Amino acid sequence: VGDRADIDREVQSVCPFCGVGCQVSVKIKDDRVKYIEGINGPANEGRLCVKGRFGFDYIHNAQRLTVPLVRREDAPAKGLNVDPANPWTHFREATWDEALDLAARGLVDLRSFYGGKSVAGFGSAKCTNEEAYLFQKLIRQGFKHNNVDHCTRLCHASSVAALMENVGSGAVTASFNEIENADIAIVIGANPTENHPVAATYFKQFAKRGGKLVVMDPRGQRGLQRHAWKELRFRPGTDVALLNAIMNVIVEEKLYDRQYIEGFTEGFFEFRDHIRAFTPERMAELCGIDPGTIREVARAYADARAGMIFWGMGVSQHIHGTDNARCLISLALLCGHVGRPGTGLHPLRGQNNVQGASDAGLIPQVMPDYQSVTDGEVRDLFRHIWRGTEIDAQPGLTVVEIMDRVYRGEIKGMYVLGENPAMSDPDVEHARKALAHLDHLVVQDIFLTETAMFADVILPASALPEKTGTTTNTNRQVQMIRRAVPTPGSAREDWAILVDLARRIGLDWDYSHPRDVFAEMKMSMFSLHHITWSRLEAEGAVTYPCKSPDEPGEAVVFGDGFPRRAGRAKFTPARVTPPAEVPDDTFPMILTTGRQLEHWHTGSMTRRAPVLDAVEPEATAGMHPATLRELGVAPGGRVRLTTRRGSLEVMARADRNVARDMVFLPFAFVEAAANILTNPALDPFGKIPEFKYSAVRVEAAESD
Ligand code: SF4
Repeated sequence: VGDRADIDREVQSVCPFCGVGCQVSVKIKDDRVKYIEGINGPANEGRLCVKGRFGFDYIHNAQRLTVPLVRREDAPAKGLNVDPANPWTHFREATWDEALDLAARGLVDLRSFYGGKSVAGFGSAKCTNEEAYLFQKLIRQGFKHNNVDHCTRLCHASSVAALMENVGSGAVTASFNEIENADIAIVIGANPTENHPVAATYFKQFAKRGGKLVVMDPRGQRGLQRHAWKELRFRPGTDVALLNAIMNVIVEEKLYDRQYIEGFTEGFFEFRDHIRAFTPERMAELCGIDPGTIREVARAYADARAGMIFWGMGVSQHIHGTDNARCLISLALLCGHVGRPGTGLHPLRGQNNVQGASDAGLIPQVMPDYQSVTDGEVRDLFRHIWRGTEIDAQPGLTVVEIMDRVYRGEIKGMYVLGENPAMSDPDVEHARKALAHLDHLVVQDIFLTETAMFADVILPASALPEKTGTTTNTNRQVQMIRRAVPTPGSAREDWAILVDLARRIGLDWDYSHPRDVFAEMKMSMFSLHHITWSRLEAEGAVTYPCKSPDEPGEAVVFGDGFPRRAGRAKFTPARVTPPAEVPDDTFPMILTTGRQLEHWHTGSMTRRAPVLDAVEPEATAGMHPATLRELGVAPGGRVRLTTRRGSLEVMARADRNVARDMVFLPFAFVEAAANILTNPALDPFGKIPEFKYSAVRVEAAESD
């Protein structure tokens, strides 16, 4: 952490970590970041968490990629056997021209020989909107298909599927800051104190001023539970049972908002008939919450003047994730808690720009602004904007589906920008074997990630403080990213690398600045109406949708109807579906994975931020003290976790917030990669894996 007086300039930008999108002032001396301060952005009002304040120095880590690398002809077999500090037995340095030529030639050769669908792309939610837009365009225009996706598939794909289906828009209906106007707020399947820490400060303030905070999560929460009016620690995987029981009370006691339902929704009567079977008494045994508490929460939410619902991966990362989100949407619609101040549906987005990357079309089913590839008028629009490019009418493959096709040898080449499937995919050994099979892998990143270890060409890219562009946070706030420091060595900004590679695969791209890309995005993205580059440069942030060039944008939407048929949102009934894999005699416990305060996603950045890694340097399996006692393991001892996919050894941590039959494992640590254990079963609608529920056996490690 730098000396606060010793800087020569400062640049206003946005934190590179979570979807809250805190605005920061980057303090710089001799082109190095010395320290970070929070400034008065619309989402954070000066606040920062430990990652935003102390996690910046990953950008100056000695392991940054500073020159292009190509795989040596005499390299050992592809695998995780590369030392990031000394990769020279596997890779050699190359000039940019050589690396880009090799990268492009490999992709073009596959396209010529096997067809465009032999190549797929993973883009990144860590990049800017402009870079996300360029990446999906490169795959769609250059290879003539839609097999391009990004990490939204692993976090909120099921939430987006449910929101698109029932509300007509995949984004939040209200900013999280609207909680200050609410009387009640439900936080379900989310741990904002660790994963969206600045948002959590607003939740705690809400509770302190008397708001009713209801926390629903199988895992207890150190952060919010002290502030909760009710904490419902329901059984893992029983979200639909609990939520249907709450809605049963609202329906049976006629607590719903009849006028709102008549004016703004469809499908209520079928839904009412469906929900009658889910009485609190019948559901209590399943979800583990007593009927009295279910009734109390139902009445409080229905009676409130204004209520909000927030959710996270605990809702979405199940094979019934879309059903979970459908229930939350129905609950809000029943009570008319959408479209007014203090009301709304808010899936807390994970990575800094997962909202923006999704908006920009980095999704296999939709073009920018969620315009379906199956719609002929949409394809006509993009044929016009993209100078005659034919858009494939077939929706593309998702992240996990792509890795399966790679494993089966059907996809032979990949371009991976800022993603790390060798850590983030479920059943990750399967993904690693798939990556090793590829004929040609191009990885563009800032570090030699676990995925880059399998690459044929590695293109050294830029960290967020080295970029110019825009990102969009969980609140739909489009924010200006200002380049604070130069890229190290000959590393380059991602948009510029994409342009050079696109030209080499035959595309006539002529962008000379991210603002050119933004201008093109506005041609197809109605969401960016009244949001201009110059406005963002002047104001820093504008919320979409925005009604005029003079307004900051709408924090709350859908007060006068929904972007669906006849302006009506829809009730979609959900049935209780058991997890894909339930505990048995061989695997008697439940494994759930997630993030922790100090680390972010696969750890490629935060594990290289010395302050953060010093606080949490090692993966730990969180278990209840009583469970550890039964295993004969002391806190700090070692346990072996085994599922049907694999086995690993890890330090045990006593955590009373974890239920006695559960284990919590963070997924940021390559030394004990949680996804070796996870189940790749997918939600049929959102195609999201069931990261939150695997059957696991836990034993004292032999070395303990
Ligand atoms: Fe960064 Fe999120 Fe922390 Fe804000 S809450 S400082 S955006 S990690």
